[in-house]
Amino acid sequence: MSAGQVFASPSGKRYDVIIVGGAVQGSAVAWFLLDNPDFNGSILVIERDPAYEFCSTSRSNSCIRQQFGCEINILVSRFGAEFVQNLRQFMGGDERVPHLPIRNFGYLYLAADENTANALRRAQALQQACGAGTRLLTPGDIRERYPFLAVDDIILGSLNTRDEGYFEGMAMFDWLRRSARERGAEYLANEVVAMTLNRAGTDVESVTLATGETIACGTVVNAAGPRAAKVAGMAGIGELPVEPRKRFSYVFSAETPLSRDLPLTIDPTGIHMRSDSAHYLAGCKPDRDDPVDPDDFDDQPELWEEKVWPVLAARIPGFEAIRLIRSWVGHYDYNRFDRNAILGPHGEITNFLFINGFSGHGLQQAPAMGRGLSEWIIHGEYRSLDLSAFAFDRIVHSIPFAEDAVI
Ligand SMILES: Cc1cc2nc3c(=O)[nH]c(=O)nc-3n(C[C@H](O)[C@H](O)[C@H](O)COP(=O)(O)OP(=O)(O)OC[C@H]3O[C@@H](n4cnc5c(N)ncnc54)[C@H](O)[C@@H]3O)c2cc1C
Repeated sequence: MSAGQVFASPSGKRYDVIIVGGAVQGSAVAWFLLDNPDFNGSILVIERDPAYEFCSTSRSNSCIRQQFGCEINILVSRFGAEFVQNLRQFMGGDERVPHLPIRNFGYLYLAADENTANALRRAQALQQACGAGTRLLTPGDIRERYPFLAVDDIILGSLNTRDEGYFEGMAMFDWLRRSARERGAEYLANEVVAMTLNRAGTDVESVTLATGETIACGTVVNAAGPRAAKVAGMAGIGELPVEPRKRFSYVFSAETPLSRDLPLTIDPTGIHMRSDSAHYLAGCKPDRDDPVDPDDFDDQPELWEEKVWPVLAARIPGFEAIRLIRSWVGHYDYNRFDRNAILGPHGEITNFLFINGFSGHGLQQAPAMGRGLSEWIIHGEYRSLDLSAFAFDRIVHSIPFAEDAVI
């Protein structure tokens, strides 16, 4: 733990639900549990970085989209859009809760080859069937709508401007956490360092804190983001395929601003760019996308000059003259197995629950996933939306449930 960390002790010795990690997923689970009249248990949320400086949540780009390749991810995001835009109603009309509109500039996927174009065509048909407003655009359509984009190499685009764009993800997270606390969840600034199982190895009996205390639990939720595999390892679960992967974000200004909002445009190189209030934001992964140490946030300063800026300037000639304002490094909680969330119980240690592996789209998924896991804890089944496709068993049986629309 970092120097100056404030340790705090829990008020009780046993909690019905212990949540390891108090960022957006952990707080969403706590909030949805406490919002459900059928739940009357106790909740302890343990967070090793209570300033939330390093978690994925704080380093996110905070966008939401309907353009996924799996139907369930479209439905999960549709609930995310409903939740964020009606946060105050969901929180009982509390007038302190802000309105959080989505800035609907949309995502624009660009295909430069037939394989990618066919994938966009298939995805658009699926998204439309799920009620999303995705449209396919010819290069001419793109030019007409966004005259500043160079599309000579592009054969197809796909765009949705309904419930798709930027949202105030940190405000949503702040309110989930604040409201969960006000409704009775206890948040602890501490770190879970070990777990003890019962003799049969079928239940986690207790967690041990960095300060030495042992706390008994009914259910334990792994909401540890990029550190999820380490937390699973504490229960003897060795096969959680979630790892920290670096992602680089850049905010820049343009000498000549574009004539209209730039959608979150996914270039065929994988580099993405979008409007960010009066500025612009771009993002990329490193050339070698390997897992990293969870404490490694070192920048690679050459990436901006050598990799990102040339792509920006080629796609938008007006971006020849831009100025980097700030940049940061964040970690995806990357599921290397199939890039989809892992949700619900472990097959053998049945009171150990996963909410992990969001692979770059976890902020928008937190409402549906938090609600789903709370239903699982209370009722032993998903009630609002069937999330069983995300079950951990698919890892054990090596049956991937792949999401290809990962940015
Ligand atoms: C650059 C970047 C851009 C992104 N853009 C988007 C986007 O546009 N839209 C979107 O939907 N998603 C996006 N994401 C993904 C999204 O931010 C994450 O999927 C989501 O925030 C994961 O939330 P989490 O609560 O699971 O994990 P985290 O936010 O990482 O939280 C996990 C918490 O667990 C704590 N913890 C870990 N181990 C322990 C322990 N042993 N004891 C106690 N506490 C522990 C950590 O300190 C941390 O606070 C982006 C991510 C990055 C990095």
